Amino acid sequence: MLNIVIFGAPGSGKGTQSERIVEKYGINHISTGDVLRAEIKNNTELGKTAKGYIDQGQLIPDSLMIDILASVFDSFQDSKGVIFDGFPRTIPQAEALKVMLKERGQDISVMLDLDVPEEELMTRLIKRGQESGRADDNEETIKKRLVVYNTQTSPLKEFYKGEGKYKHIQGLGTMDGIFADICKAIG
Ligand code: AMP
Repeated sequence: MLNIVIFGAPGSGKGTQSERIVEKYGINHISTGDVLRAEIKNNTELGKTAKGYIDQGQLIPDSLMIDILASVFDSFQDSKGVIFDGFPRTIPQAEALKVMLKERGQDISVMLDLDVPEEELMTRLIKRGQESGRADDNEETIKKRLVVYNTQTSPLKEFYKGEGKYKHIQGLGTMDGIFADICKAIG
């Protein structure tokens, strides 16, 4: 199986590039943000809990996220692999992902770090908020999400370097150019 972690700050292009990877490699996609937004839309108990965190730009507790991830992963049948988009976001999540995959005889193949400067992230997210109406894409919440990314999520780069899975991708440029670099990194 080809199991990819697509990594990067909010607005780095993970969702867009994931769609292309899914199309080219025929693997399944797990976006934990999309899972949570669907729960909110359906007004489930999980959605109600998640909304409080998302609106504040904070992360949902690890234990909850890890359970969600495992159940989505196990729902895929005859999968050729999975792209993890927006997960892991903390060291405990990365460790839990490793254990979960190992229990299923799997491993992460590669971690792609989409690197985009912070001013560009701000510009992209504000634009996305205006176009999509995503509630957490407003200036105040974006700033909080970037702090959370820098403090809680960014340390995962070192984690995956230690695992020998880390690949840096320059996240500025054309979508086609970035995708070509991604394909090279996947190999
Ligand atoms: P995203 O669409 O990936 O930017 O996620 C939107 C929001 O959902 C984040 O700001 C978090 O509040 C929450 N979220 C998504 N994925 C995770 C995760 N792996 N761990 C904790 N919170 C998450």
